[in-house]
This record gives sequence, structure tokens and C-alpha cells, in this order.
Amino acid sequence: MGIRFQNSYAEQLAGFFAAWQGDAAPAPALVMLNHGLADELGLDADFLASPEGRALLTGGTAPAGAVPLAMAYAGHQFGGFSPQLGDGRALLLGEIISPQGARYDLHLKGSGRTPFSRGGDGKAVLGPVLREYLMGEAMQALGIPTTRALAALTTGETIIRDGARPGAVLARVAASHIRVGTFQFFAARGEADKLRQLADYAIARHDPALKADYLGFLAAVVARQAKLVAQWMQVGFIHGVMNTDNMVISGETIDYGPCAFLDGYGPDVVFSSIDSHGRYAYGNQPVIAQWNLARLAECLLGLIDEDTDRAIAKATEVVNGFMPQYQTAWLAGMRRKFGLAGEDAADLALAEDILAVMHAQRVDFTLFFRHLAKAAAGDDAPLRALFSDPAPLVRWLAGWRARLEPDAAPGMNQTNPAYIPRNHLVEAALDAAVAQKDMAPFQTLLDVLGDPFTERAGLEAYTQPAPESFGPFQTFCGT
Ligand code: AMP
Ligand code: MG
Repeated sequence: MGIRFQNSYAEQLAGFFAAWQGDAAPAPALVMLNHGLADELGLDADFLASPEGRALLTGGTAPAGAVPLAMAYAGHQFGGFSPQLGDGRALLLGEIISPQGARYDLHLKGSGRTPFSRGGDGKAVLGPVLREYLMGEAMQALGIPTTRALAALTTGETIIRDGARPGAVLARVAASHIRVGTFQFFAARGEADKLRQLADYAIARHDPALKADYLGFLAAVVARQAKLVAQWMQVGFIHGVMNTDNMVISGETIDYGPCAFLDGYGPDVVFSSIDSHGRYAYGNQPVIAQWNLARLAECLLGLIDEDTDRAIAKATEVVNGFMPQYQTAWLAGMRRKFGLAGEDAADLALAEDILAVMHAQRVDFTLFFRHLAKAAAGDDAPLRALFSDPAPLVRWLAGWRARLEPDAAPGMNQTNPAYIPRNHLVEAALDAAVAQKDMAPFQTLLDVLGDPFTERAGLEAYTQPAPESFGPFQTFCGT
């Protein structure tokens, strides 16, 4: 059984994309197939694994009933505006309606050059494709809205990057691929009618109750991002490249190129090799999200009110609502992480006090909260051992105990993961997969991360920070 595609983007948004087909892969081979996701979407895994399915998933054949296309978008990259980005190595194959009636995009990354490729080769390579697969599944298991990988395939090509690499395609599923940058593309060209058309489409797809309420739509996007970024912060996720073309209005996490999880805590932590000024550092993410939302608001001004001053006043108020919503979501999440009983006005200070100590001593963010649950159950020793100087921790613990809920540990362990995609583990799994064609470490890591809250015997190594020998870690954009 093939895939029954719908094509609402293609049908309703003529002029927003280039109808396009991918390159035929010489030898498409499945590296990973996400059976769980295929089931959720009502897709036939046997079909996906068949020659026809593999040709479809690498982009070489346009499936019957689909209108594959490369989407146009623009974007602020590291603060500078690029009016023309677009899917330079990706294709939207079409949309799938799940058995529950939800609409998803099926999108390919690495399927070949498109009219938006600029100087690029339109390709992707196996390491970054698997990295995105793993990170998306980890986020999903952590309960964080995310795009997800349906499959990772090699194409049979050799692609030159920093050496010869196996060419690969990621088949990605998302609530949609409408980005802040999609709006910016048409705003920059002064195409007011197209902006309205895009906004109407986005509202119908994501906020149907709002109908032509564009200010309400902006507020809905702001609310989703405030919650999303609060969730990132609570697990120590650093996106790494929060350009406006990598922020979708659905509120899902998208584009896992240079992302990584915090180990030693610090607002200043940056892993991406290209983020030399730390624009997308861990602690900057809320401010950057709000900055991106201000860019979206600018695009919507003409729809919000015909009087520009009034439109600016209304949009500004909505964008300014980001921080209070973010802080509320963050604090609520931190209360769960710390196992606090109810709410107290001093909870923010309680959280900030220990975070400052953790920053000064670069305490492992994930282990801190798992060991804090042990402290809640009466054993402070593992927690103390994380601090080179435990004195400020010990002082803080007294105040924390006064706020602690009775029998807090089980709840804390439901919100504080034991297993995150630690950098050294991810690198080792990818290295085995790419250099040795050994998928076992990747599969094991994927399984471990699929249930991040339940500590299991035999998996102790997966809870531990990188050994000293791993050295400082850097990530690279997935090209
Ligand atoms: P990303 O860093 O993946 O978010 O991509 C930013 C922009 O660069 C998007 O417009 C991509 O389509 C484009 N791009 C990235 N890698 C390539 C490539 N290898 N070939 C063509 N375009 C690319
Ligand atoms: Mg991108």
C-alpha cells in the first residue's frame, strides 16, 4: 500500500514554492525506519521498505497523487537578513492525514538541488541525518514538541564534505514547515496579498478557531514558542541555530543541525562552531525566540490593523507578552524539577540561587536533578559529590527542604531525565554508524533515549558526563 498524499500547500499557495523533483538515488537503502511513527501515521512500513518506498523516501520518484515542491522562505541568519533561502536541499512531498485526523508534512532533506540551492549541492550526509533522527526522537520522548524522522536512508552516492561521506536523506514529519522566514519572504517583497493568503492558510492549519484574527494568530505563535523554549531550557537543550528560518509557527522544534545538550551548567554554553559570538548560547534562547517573534510580528502588521501605529502598538503588546509567559512556564517547570510543594513567591530566587552556584562550579545539569531526587529521599551524598565546593549547596539545601513536597522523589524523576543525548555518546554512535557501518550503538542509544525517565540497571554509562579525554565539544551545521 502506497501513501495517500494530500497537497493543500501546493493547491492553496500557488506562487509560494517551486514544483520540483529530487535526484534519483543510485542505490537507496534504509538505514533507519521509524516503525512507531509509521504506525502513528497509518503508514505501511513494508511499503516504505520496498524499492518503491525507498525511491519515494529519497525523492527520486514523484509519488502518484503528490506534488513534490521546494518551499520558498527567507530568514534572519545570526541577525542578518537573507531575503532568499528556501528549500535548497529539501522537498515537501506532500501531506499525510493520520488515523486520528491530524495533518502532517512529509518532507525530505538531502534530496538534491532545487531552484533555492544557491551554491549548495542539495545533498545531506549520513552523520548529520542520523544526528537529527536521534535528537528528534530524544525530544519526543522528553515530551517536547518536535519534528520527527520517519526514515534515514543512504542514497548510494559519495558526497564530499570534510572528506568522502555517504550521501543520505532524512524523511521528516512535521505539523507543517511554515516558518517565521516563510512570512518574511513575502513581507520583504511587499506582497501583501500573499502574506494574507499565507496567514489564512497557517491559521486554518494550526489555529482554525481564530479565522481572520491575525493578532490572535501572532499571540498563539508567541504562546507556543514561550512554552517550547521553557521546555528546552528545562532539559538543557541548546538549539544552536535559532535563525528565523528555523522557527516554525506550529511550535515544534525543527532543524537539529548543531544542537546539543548541556552538560556543565552555564547560560553562556555554546557548542556550535559557527556561533562564535554566542548569539544562540543556552541562556540567550528566550531572548532570541522573542526577537524572532518580533520579526514575525513585523510581517503581520498590515494584517493586524490598517493604521500602522495602531498595528505596531497591538503587535508590540503581544510580543512583549512572550517573556512573562516564558517565565511562568519556566518557573512552573522548575517547581516540578525541584519537587516543590505548591507555589511560593521566593521560588524564583530559590531556583536562581542554586543555578548560580551550578554555573560557578559547572555542575552537570542533568545529574544535578537526578541526584536532587536522591537528596529528597534522604541521601545527599551523590549530590554533594557533583560540587567541587559543596558549602553553598549545603546552605541552599536547607531552604529547599523547607519548600520540598512530601515524597517528592518519584515525581521529580518523572520530570528530570536520567538519559539525555550526551555529546560523547552521540558522537560515538554516529562514528560507529558512519565509519564502521555498525548501527548497534546508535540503536542502543536510541532505545535508551526512548525512555529517558526510567533508570535501568546496566545503563549507568548513559547517565555519566563525558570523560575528560573527550575534551571540549563542538557541533557543526548539518551540511
Ligand atoms: P539549515 O542550516 O539546514 O537550516 O539551512 C539554511 C539554508 O541553507 C536553507 O535554505 C537550506 O536549504 C540551505 N542549505 C543548507 N545546506 C545546503 C546544501 N547542501 N545545498 C543546498 N542548500 C543548502
Ligand atoms: Mg533550516
